[in-house]
Amino acid sequence: MSPTPTLLWLRRDLRLNDHPALSDAAKHGEVLPVYIHSPAPKNGRAMGAAQRWWLHQNLETLDQNLRQKGGNLVLRKGEPLAVLRDLIQETGAQRLVFTHAYDTATRAQDNKITQALTKDGIEVQAFGGHLLHEPWDILNKQGGPYRVYTPFAKACFEHPVTPPLPAPPTIPFPAKFPRSDKLSDWGLCPSKPDWAQQMAKEWEAGEDAVRRQLNTFIKNGLEHYHTERDRPDLDGVSRLSPYLALGVISPRQIWQAVQQTGRAYEKGPHTYLKELLWREFSYHQLYHQPDIMRHPIQPSFARFPWRISKRDLAAWQQGKTGYPIVDAGMRQLWRTGWIHNRVRMIVASFLVKDLRLSWQEGEAWFWDTLIDADPASNPASWQWVAGCGADAAPYFRIFNPTLQEKKYDPKGDYVRRYVPEWKGQGSTTYPAPLVDHTLARREALEALSLIKRQAD
Ligand code: FAD
Repeated sequence: MSPTPTLLWLRRDLRLNDHPALSDAAKHGEVLPVYIHSPAPKNGRAMGAAQRWWLHQNLETLDQNLRQKGGNLVLRKGEPLAVLRDLIQETGAQRLVFTHAYDTATRAQDNKITQALTKDGIEVQAFGGHLLHEPWDILNKQGGPYRVYTPFAKACFEHPVTPPLPAPPTIPFPAKFPRSDKLSDWGLCPSKPDWAQQMAKEWEAGEDAVRRQLNTFIKNGLEHYHTERDRPDLDGVSRLSPYLALGVISPRQIWQAVQQTGRAYEKGPHTYLKELLWREFSYHQLYHQPDIMRHPIQPSFARFPWRISKRDLAAWQQGKTGYPIVDAGMRQLWRTGWIHNRVRMIVASFLVKDLRLSWQEGEAWFWDTLIDADPASNPASWQWVAGCGADAAPYFRIFNPTLQEKKYDPKGDYVRRYVPEWKGQGSTTYPAPLVDHTLARREALEALSLIKRQAD
């Protein structure tokens, strides 16, 4: 047992269960949990506005859970290295533990901090827990990263998943805690106008809430997931992504819960596990590819003739494109901070193919408005839809939003929920279509053939 506390630096791992860094710290002696509200790392980006609101809620519940165990969460604002050094000086801590991040900017920052603190004589250790498998553990036969999802998923299914760790039954805390900021002083929640009101009705923060959500899905949704997951009008998906994005639950906890049903090989559960592996595949790309947020994985797309139109971008963002399913999706996003996956694909395809605005514009808007905004899944999925990602849907496959709506929202229940003024063709209160899909499709294919010709 160490006589000095271990600093547990929390980031996107706001939980007590299945937390390898916390479990390790608790084994060594006293634990001092800290969350640092810091500027974006160099070349990285700060959390978007909707997720900051969600962060506030989850920091609050984590603090409550720590208080029940006799401690609390120490909140500090500033550059992480400076804050950590202050805390080390104030508490005499000799160790720092945290959970791995995978984006280039945060990794570079973590390396710098590790080197600096090691030089100061502090023991620094990073742990897994955010993923089922570390991206350096799943490699192809040549020892390189996978570029195609199916063999990647096959390799993951062949790799045993380590069972999740229980929360430490007791956490040894120091007798005296250092000063903490007041969460409400950080301004993470909007004030005027308070656009988070509807989000607050839809989402309950914390580990207890996500456990209930998971149990309900396992009981009611898992069996039919393969048939209902594409229907935004039904309650057919797990809605766990906001919790995964901030690490309120770990993927291993979800994986194990599915395995424990004893029916993981049936169609519903198996399809669900495969979706969790899309998240892993996104992290695989984030780790192995340079800066997927900015650069297309397929380099020829850097020459794609994207249009620039503030007017069209605003119509898409505000859900006023005149295509009901697109508008319903964009309004669901604005109101609730989340969109159903099928509708994410439809709205993303509409932006990059019908409007021919760049996927980076869409990715940035999602980053700011999703509560589940994820540094891997968001850029990887946008690149997938745009046709420039790893193993992407080819750009020439262009969704027809009207047919998608008929197929996946057959009675119009989803559209009516978010676009109540839509009364069918010729509605006077609803905008006329921003573009003609047939024409837009032809123009998109011409733009594609341009970059293909340049590549030949
Ligand atoms: P479920 O269908 O219940 O799936 C369970 C879990 O599997 C999800 O929580 C998620 O972790 C994972 N998953 C499912 N589908 C995917 C997928 N296609 N790619 C990666 N992981 C997946 N997901 C995010 O978590 N954050 C994002 O920022 C994000 N941005 C996206 C942007 C676009 C353009 C698209 C097309 C998809 C995006 N996704 C993102 C993936 C997916 O839409 C969401 O993970 C899913 O809709 C979340 O809802 P759920 O938890 O009910 O999913």
